[in-house]
Amino acid sequence: MAGLTAAAVFARCGLAVSLVERAARLGGHAARLSCKATSGCVHCGACLLEAALQAVRAMPQVTVHLSASARIRRRGGAFSFELDPACGPGPGAPAKEAAAVFVATGFSAFSPAERPLGWGVFANVLTNLELEDRLRAEGRLTRPSDGRVPGRVAFIQCVGSRNAQIGHLWCSAFCCAAALRAARKIRHLHPETEITVFYIDLQSVGRAPDAFLEECRRGLRLIRAVPGEALGAADGGIRLTWFDDAGRMSREEAFDLVVLSAGMQPPADLEETLAPLGLPRDSFGFAAEEGDRVFAAGSVRRPMTIAEAIADSRRAARRLLAALGWEGPRADPAFDPVPKAAAASGAQPAPPRREGGR
Ligand SMILES: Cc1cc2nc3c(=O)[nH]c(=O)nc-3n(C[C@H](O)[C@H](O)[C@H](O)COP(=O)(O)OP(=O)(O)OC[C@H]3O[C@@H](n4cnc5c(N)ncnc54)[C@H](O)[C@@H]3O)c2cc1C
Ligand code: SF4
Ligand code: SF4
Repeated sequence: MAGLTAAAVFARCGLAVSLVERAARLGGHAARLSCKATSGCVHCGACLLEAALQAVRAMPQVTVHLSASARIRRRGGAFSFELDPACGPGPGAPAKEAAAVFVATGFSAFSPAERPLGWGVFANVLTNLELEDRLRAEGRLTRPSDGRVPGRVAFIQCVGSRNAQIGHLWCSAFCCAAALRAARKIRHLHPETEITVFYIDLQSVGRAPDAFLEECRRGLRLIRAVPGEALGAADGGIRLTWFDDAGRMSREEAFDLVVLSAGMQPPADLEETLAPLGLPRDSFGFAAEEGDRVFAAGSVRRPMTIAEAIADSRRAARRLLAALGWEGPRADPAFDPVPKAAAASGAQPAPPRREGGR
């Protein structure tokens, strides 16, 4: 989202943009998310991706390189870059020049294999991204082990976030609202399914958190506790134990499916990306905001939602234009490079040029 947003801004300003995407398709993590609408839209932001893709597709100034990576070197005040020969234009292709670099390489999802919650051990323990994949593919929720609709589902929040033991002190910002919306969507699809959400705090749940949480409490069981180890139960189930503060006692229950709300972390190869650009990392390991003609935006900088990644990218794009001394078209002094509706760019629809990838 951050990269697509900035690419559309720059193209609208007439700059030539090389959009280098490591995956075989554009969209990043947002492309894996499912719509959470129940009786109406719940403003999860997932479909903002389609508008961002359309904006970029409408810009002939954007060259998209899929399944690609770029080797970038500083050259004087600018940069030269080559695409990985495995996916680029082929051996002997000349290096390209760039006046500035925009880093929007996003986040890695925390791997819960590093915590004893049964992921990778029990078939019916999923990460939140795996849940998204299932909801998107099937339009309903079934268990991996037997294809049945689960009767009892537990969500465990803050997996890999807010955890001093692993040095992840940050809140991942998206996962409370995402889990609650997913839970309500599951209840909408399968009203007979009971859902329990184990949380530490419920953070970043929108502009009217009290009303939203009140609605959630009507259909979901919200328990402030951190379950310990997950154990196997009969019929593919998973037993969770937790300490009940109010009752001052340990509790144990079996669930048919457990979803781990795995948080965001900096990608393992981020240092490799940033070092040639001279862009440092912050104390948590995410990218700094800005260097010399290098700008970072989106979840590569810190955990954030889709709407925040778009806003962050638009801010950083403005700074990049200022650093390049971009002054706007003489014919239109009122031209705003970052208008409110990024998708409504007024550009003529045209397919992007593609090199490499599929
Ligand atoms: C399970 C789950 C549910 C979520 N639900 C919501 C929700 O309901 N609402 C919401 O607002 N947010 C949600 N989010 C968060 C949302 O996914 C992020 O806010 C958003 O994806 C951030 O976009 P980004 O562009 O910063 O990063 P990313 O989506 O991570 O995109 C980064 C892109 O860079 C590419 N890349 C990485 N390294 C390189 C490289 N070296 N060279 C070239 N390309 C590279 C990646 O392939 C990817 O396409 C959810 C996240 C998860 C995991
Ligand atoms: S994807 Fe999210 S924002 Fe879009 S319609 Fe569905 S619920 Fe609403
Ligand atoms: S958003 Fe919620 S689940 Fe995610 S890290 Fe923050 S408090 Fe934990």
